[in-house]
Amino acid sequence: MFHRIGLVFLFLAGWALPAAAQPSTGLPARPALSGVRLYVIDCGTIISNQPENFGLTKDEAGNTNFADPCFLVMHPKGILLFDTGLPDAHVGRPIYENMMGREGILKFTTLTGELADIGVTPAMITDLAISHSHWDHVGNANLFAGSTWLARKAEYDFMFGPAANKQALPNYSALEHAPHIKFITGDYDVFGDGSVVLLSTPGHSPGHQSLYVKLAHTGGVVISGDLYHYSAERRLNRVPPREQGGQTPASRARIEAFLTSHHAQLWIGHAIDWYAKAVKSPGWYD
Ligand SMILES: [Zn+2]
Repeated sequence: MFHRIGLVFLFLAGWALPAAAQPSTGLPARPALSGVRLYVIDCGTIISNQPENFGLTKDEAGNTNFADPCFLVMHPKGILLFDTGLPDAHVGRPIYENMMGREGILKFTTLTGELADIGVTPAMITDLAISHSHWDHVGNANLFAGSTWLARKAEYDFMFGPAANKQALPNYSALEHAPHIKFITGDYDVFGDGSVVLLSTPGHSPGHQSLYVKLAHTGGVVISGDLYHYSAERRLNRVPPREQGGQTPASRARIEAFLTSHHAQLWIGHAIDWYAKAVKSPGWYD
């Protein structure tokens, strides 16, 4: 809401705005909310066939490809985008341009288009958070550099230090000196009422986090980020070999306890079997 009021003021004052900051008049109106809505947005698909990297055989993993959703939380006090998916620039490009190492990127819709379908422009996103900074979660991050970025120092240092993925860095480089960076620690209550909470789950990356959303009808949901990739990892209690000596096992144990105490369900975003059944945007959960 702040942005809308601000934009109206600037418009009346005759300020020139960059085109990206102007809500399109062709968009449907943003709904008036009394509660929290959660949208699951198609942000692409990753063609992958290396389940051994996650401690699984092909038979155990099932479909080895990955969904790659973004999540939008509409709250009466603001709009949070959690993850920005695969880069919009991959839409309509041949597969040989859409490779990241041994993995292929399938992308049929843009995040900006998906947001437009529900009446949201990037300028209306009050808060940005990423589960972590790997390439499949930050593909469109630059579009949201004007939002308040709820960042963790360990991830920030990882993103802009020598270990940064040079191929992905251009997609999030605008965050390095973003005007509204808010460094958070521990579990962070985004809108101050306990309904939307970023949960610290380090291990997959130094500042990895998951997202808890409390919904009136659906109940509690924890969006895992890459705490898990395949449903079989959780079912069979497998940890990716490269994460076995790190913080992932403790973070997983913590989330399992949280799920129990909050009567919440876990959504594994990359899991094709979960994603196939999820209600996708422009539908929503409330
Ligand atoms: Zn991922």
